[in-house]
Amino acid sequence: MTDTPTQLFIGGAWVDAADGATMPVDDPATGDILCHVADAGPKDAKLAEDAAVQAQEEWARTAPRVRSEILRRAYEIIVGRTDELAHLMTAEMGKPLAEARGEVAYAAEFFRWFSEEAVRIDGGLATLPDGRNRMLLSRRPVGPCLLITPWNFPLAMGTRKIGPAVAAGCTMVLKPAPQTPLSSLALAAILKEAGLPDGVLNVVTTSRAGEVCEPLLRGGRIRKLSFTGSTAVGQLLLAQSAQAVVRTSMELGGNAPFVVFEDADLDKAVDGAMVAKMRNMGEACTAANRFFVHRSVAEEFGRRLAERMGALVVGPGTRDGVDVGPLIDRRGRAKVEELVADAVERGAQVLVGGRTPEGPGCFYPPTVLADVDPGSRLMDTEIFGPVAAILTFDDEDEVIRRANDTPWGLVGYVFTEGLDRALRVSERLEVGMVGLNTGLVSNPAAPFGGVKQSGLGREGGRVGIDEFLEYQYLAVPVR
Ligand code: NAD
Repeated sequence: MTDTPTQLFIGGAWVDAADGATMPVDDPATGDILCHVADAGPKDAKLAEDAAVQAQEEWARTAPRVRSEILRRAYEIIVGRTDELAHLMTAEMGKPLAEARGEVAYAAEFFRWFSEEAVRIDGGLATLPDGRNRMLLSRRPVGPCLLITPWNFPLAMGTRKIGPAVAAGCTMVLKPAPQTPLSSLALAAILKEAGLPDGVLNVVTTSRAGEVCEPLLRGGRIRKLSFTGSTAVGQLLLAQSAQAVVRTSMELGGNAPFVVFEDADLDKAVDGAMVAKMRNMGEACTAANRFFVHRSVAEEFGRRLAERMGALVVGPGTRDGVDVGPLIDRRGRAKVEELVADAVERGAQVLVGGRTPEGPGCFYPPTVLADVDPGSRLMDTEIFGPVAAILTFDDEDEVIRRANDTPWGLVGYVFTEGLDRALRVSERLEVGMVGLNTGLVSNPAAPFGGVKQSGLGREGGRVGIDEFLEYQYLAVPVR
């Protein structure tokens, strides 16, 4: 912790907020203050924007191979410092160290992936239909970007945006979530060490997100917003982006259905449920939010899931053997408590968990609810906690209709041993991603993203870099 930067990173220098303001960073496992970081205001944001705008032209001209090798070096540094970064993330976010190490590897992979994509940006030459005119097509960086990230994957949500922006030749202002600023500051230090030129990445940590971001979005110099966070904030930012016609990528909330058919392999389904529900303590946009289980296997599935969930060890993420860390803060935990209370009031049975432990920290136990009433609030709210809500269904058409009956469409999980059914159901689910007999879809090589109110655009995969590139077409008549 002692070496972790706590100042703003602007134009390649570490600086205090112009008014000297700082904000505390809390440890969710104890409620103690870990440290204070600079709390930027609009003046600081403008300086960061100036730096990004100034660096843009030269950065766009930098050879792709140079950009590629900076990312590759940053990848190597991150992997080499896995333990240090994992401890930092666990301290500010709460996830168990084993999961934090997993996120470091996942985060690093985005840099490796986009270091490989940076040198594959291509264009084209075509003869137009009249047989005479030619079309020259090139790709250019979209320009200075504003990147806004959430607290739940403090490192990976940053690299998933910075990787393609660096590869494409864009400069950036990164605004991390106020709960987890340290991982982003550490990332900035690593990129500087890897050779990223001054001004290409600027980081503003702030408790005043609205005041800091709105002028940038409305000002006309930021050409791209890449946002990961809640749908409500995404909708607000889309409206703010309209004035200056800022290009947007939106990775928003989810309400994932997890469907277990009568022909599913229940071992696979329970394993998948443990991952889809418990990865990151349930604080993931991809977390299974609604378990639809065929009536004939619902009791058995609920019993086995409750047994596995009940065996998990809850505690501070730094302690050996802990599977489930604290939730991010008291507000996050209060929301989970309210959703469980509402479901129980409407008749849900608590198979395991459901009781907030005494003592410091924001802990909540792994919980399984059966016979959940479809009118319960947790059916149309992201739970964002370790609570599995089980409902039953009788036939395929019915479960598809119910799974799609939500404004969100990020991911769905389907468990069946029948190939026909797997493909049929997947194609009818209104989601950007489907886990077939698996509870994990995230992979840097795959296009991550949702439909409906879960977002716009994709991150990762071959298409991830497209979000940071524009086309330019040259009309060339040949006589
Ligand atoms: P949030 O929307 O509250 O905050 C996300 C970010 O937006 C933070 O940096 C926050 O400071 C900032 N923000 C808040 N108000 C703002 C404003 N007025 N102007 C500019 N920035 C503003 O979300 P959160 O609680 O940090 O994260 C959880 C949410 O993120 C969940 O809904 C989850 O599903 C979603 N999420 C989505 C993905 C995805 O890839 N689809 C990944 C992770 C998390």
